[in-house]
Amino acid sequence: FSSISAPKLPGFDYEPRPYRGPSAEQILEKRKRFLGPSLFHYYQKPLNIVEGKMQYLFDENGKRYLDAFAGIVTVSCGHCHPEIVKAITEQNNLLQHATTIYLHHAIADFAEELASKMPGNLKVVYFVNSGSEANELAMLMARLYSGNLGMIALRNAYHGGTSGTIGLTALSTWKYSIPQGEIHHVVNPDPYRGGFGSDAHHYAKDVQDHISYGTPGKVAGFIAETIQGVGGAVELAPGYLKLVYDIVRKAGGVCIADEVQTGFGRTGSHYWGFETQGVIPDIVTMAKGIGNGLPLGAVVTTPEIANVMAQKIQFNTFGGNPVCSAGGLAVLRVLDKEKRQTHCSDVGSHLIGRLKDLQQRHEIIGDVRGRGLMVGIELVTDRKEKTPAKAETAVLFEKMRELGVLVGKGGLHGNVFRIKPPMCFTRNDADFLVDALDYAMSKI
Ligand code: PLP
Repeated sequence: FSSISAPKLPGFDYEPRPYRGPSAEQILEKRKRFLGPSLFHYYQKPLNIVEGKMQYLFDENGKRYLDAFAGIVTVSCGHCHPEIVKAITEQNNLLQHATTIYLHHAIADFAEELASKMPGNLKVVYFVNSGSEANELAMLMARLYSGNLGMIALRNAYHGGTSGTIGLTALSTWKYSIPQGEIHHVVNPDPYRGGFGSDAHHYAKDVQDHISYGTPGKVAGFIAETIQGVGGAVELAPGYLKLVYDIVRKAGGVCIADEVQTGFGRTGSHYWGFETQGVIPDIVTMAKGIGNGLPLGAVVTTPEIANVMAQKIQFNTFGGNPVCSAGGLAVLRVLDKEKRQTHCSDVGSHLIGRLKDLQQRHEIIGDVRGRGLMVGIELVTDRKEKTPAKAETAVLFEKMRELGVLVGKGGLHGNVFRIKPPMCFTRNDADFLVDALDYAMSKI
């Protein structure tokens, strides 16, 4: 498209190193031959990312991109943030692994710092290696502690792709026909697409109905994200979790908050997503942003729930690995030191404000939603019918890449842009992203 009015990336004082590795085509060829066929690439012409610095990525030709998706909401502090690189490198040079059957201070220091971020009685930490593994462990805890089997999850949720968590996930794009293990998916309290708007009471009634009609009256637990990530940045109707936590606890279940995407101040208003709903869960699961890209996850729970796990050995080889723990501790400290929560609130409000202005001018924008730097833009061909603009979303997605912005795509219909950049994303970056979207939309 015309280069005259296309917006220019904000200035950034960093020179990527010359790249001498294999080309995108060569990598793709190897991926096809040696990696599982479900691995997909995001763009029509696959993107070969070779270097990253803070909120920017560079491809094999040295082209710079604004990373508005953070490696799927994972690079919390910024690509190759110097303090995190330093912490990892120092630990890496001393000891990479010895296992938790010996003592090492990194895991203990990290657990102490993480527990200090939790409200209430959530003080016992388990380290794992991913979000799916964290949710597997949480589900096991809920079932052992309650003595019940039934789990309740929301439609449109994503909680992982392992054989247990795939049952919790409620998006057909991710599911296989395998036994789901007593999981009940309740109506999603989605203010945009849900049948009851923002009326939390109506949605909560569906939870009670599932318990009354579909279980023996007792359940193991309930799990939810407060802003559904993969589902397309859908924020639960206000007040919903308070009502549902009461219902679930009365039925003997425990309440699990999946903070894999929403945690660590990304929502701007609060450190944890569940705080936006004024609740304290019994179990919190986390991953992604906790390691700024390191394979790391955690489950935090109460001493009472942790006690039931003490009857057997609960251990995994890499959970609490010293390098990941040193990196994770550095992440928590950087987020505090750089006041990233306040920053997310400020830049996120600016971004959402500008996107809402854009919505006035482009009919295709059906909904702008989110909090802090967890934002969704849902595209529709008809605002009244809310018909998903699938083809247009795909075209705009490619155009944004050409303009130098990498956004995420999500939702059941793939018609939601997900804007969840590293938390160092600035107001200038937000302006550039909105201008690029404006420009791209004016061309379709
Ligand atoms: N929970 C949520 C909310 C997620 O978004 C994801 C991944 O996207 C997971 C769990 C699973 O995490 P992982 O991919 O690390 O297994």
